[in-house]
Amino acid sequence: MQAYSLIDRYNRRLNYLRLSITDRCNLRCIYCMPKGLIPKLPHEEILTYEEILRLVRINVSLGISKVRVTGGEPLVRKGVFDFLKELSTIEGISDISITTNGVYLKDHVHRIYDAGIRRINISLDTLNPLKYLKITGQDKFHRVWGGIQAVKEIGFKPIKLNVVALRAVNDDELIDMAKLSFENPFHIRFIEHMPVGTPGASAEHSLLTPEIKAQICSLGELVPVKNAINDGPAERYKFKGAQGEIGFISALSRHFCHTCNRLRITASGQLRTCLLSDDQFDLKGPLRKGCTDTELANMILKTVCRKPSGHHLFCSESAPVSSHMSSIGG
Ligand code: SAM
Ligand code: SF4
Repeated sequence: MQAYSLIDRYNRRLNYLRLSITDRCNLRCIYCMPKGLIPKLPHEEILTYEEILRLVRINVSLGISKVRVTGGEPLVRKGVFDFLKELSTIEGISDISITTNGVYLKDHVHRIYDAGIRRINISLDTLNPLKYLKITGQDKFHRVWGGIQAVKEIGFKPIKLNVVALRAVNDDELIDMAKLSFENPFHIRFIEHMPVGTPGASAEHSLLTPEIKAQICSLGELVPVKNAINDGPAERYKFKGAQGEIGFISALSRHFCHTCNRLRITASGQLRTCLLSDDQFDLKGPLRKGCTDTELANMILKTVCRKPSGHHLFCSESAPVSSHMSSIGG
């Protein structure tokens, strides 16, 4: 197998793999997994850790160098810390990160750190415990906040706080969230709500980056930060004198498809080349039928050729994305 063969027909080099290791979650965020709507995958449909690690190794041999572990909530899956340890021994990965809702962080932060993980994204849409309960269905704000302090103390870097900006839900707190970047080394990342699945947050909650920027600009000038090579689609800024950064992920208002370097593997082993499309290729079936690494690599290469040039959310004839964010991994 050849390195750097993951180049799609639009000449985008794919080097970033997002792994959803479970579709389960201990929260029910209104924009992702509202109560009662989403059936759980049967246990046997979920890739084992051995299967995931094998697929990661094959992807790395094709040019993947950056891996993010996500879910569902990755920290609810049994054995996750040993899995992370194993993942960080794979040669060829220069950057491993995890995205978590932070509920189990405080108790397990050392185990994540000891597994070799240094980069972490924590989802936090509000600083108000009551609103946290309304958004997530669980009264866990203080636990998450404790977890954020714990990752700061132990020295994770970067620590990114993901904030899905929603009109009439947390738009009165965007300035307070942005302020956190002054006294803390946090990267506050404002994410536009994406219409994926059948969540309880909809178009009327949509709040786009220009409006968010206009609000938080009252705190001072946003100075652009140059993107590093492995950076994702976030537009990065910093307030003068701030320890941390501000980022905007604008899938709707400024879509970044032309630079998209991502592949996703879902918890059930589906390879997806675009978050905002239901097109996927089943890797689990061939893997369990005994395909060799080379055969699986060829399937991955073929699927990469199907990566669309961009999403079609604004096209009136396009079908909405029916898969849920919790099963794809965000
Ligand atoms: N459970 C973990 C968490 O919440 O961080 C990881 C999985 S979650 C699907 C990954 C990210 O996707 C989170 O930061 C979440 O806020 C974001 N997300 C979920 N649904 C979204 C949506 N409809 N639009 C934009 N971001 C979304
Ligand atoms: Fe769970 Fe994360 Fe989805 Fe919230 S965003 S429901 S924490 S998977």
